[in-house]
Amino acid sequence: MLISIMGVISTASGRRAGKSEHVCRAVPALAVDLERMTALAAFTARSMRTRYPRPFGALIVHSTTGKTLLSALNAVRQECDPSAHAEVRAIRLATRRLKQISLAGYTLYTTCEPCPMCMSAALWAALDRVVYGATIEDANRHCSQIHIPAVEVAARSDMTCAVEGPVLRDECYALFTHPRMTKAFQLWPTRKRG
Ligand SMILES: [Zn+2]
Repeated sequence: MLISIMGVISTASGRRAGKSEHVCRAVPALAVDLERMTALAAFTARSMRTRYPRPFGALIVHSTTGKTLLSALNAVRQECDPSAHAEVRAIRLATRRLKQISLAGYTLYTTCEPCPMCMSAALWAALDRVVYGATIEDANRHCSQIHIPAVEVAARSDMTCAVEGPVLRDECYALFTHPRMTKAFQLWPTRKRG
């Protein structure tokens, strides 16, 4: 479906673009990004069969070789940690595995646009790129969000990180509307009320 492979690609590149500038343009998503997002959506969808369905998954891939480093799911409830978002967990697991604090040379894929906390972690980790599926507004139909676009967090930093999305938005948003997920959301303290 053409609409789902096209995305509004927003890029922010810190100093290069100027602190408050970012570029938004409609361009086709890269085939390789679609492939990785499809794999990530499938990985995240497996949680629908568990006791704790979650729509938030993240994947870290080497930007040049394409080799997958690891995937992670949101684990706020499991770890009793409000910062255990999928992206933060993936970054923590990756730096520990690599025994280095920089993830320069790696790309982070996430089923949902990173919140400011996760986008900040991506910047501190020096990731090359962040590619996301559903948007903060999509997620906000189901749970509370902080309404600062990831591209804006990147643009207002001193770091350089391309933020690209939405890519495979429909498939990623389907994780939020899965029957088991909508039931699970009812128990989330951050669920959308009213
Ligand atoms: Zn987050």
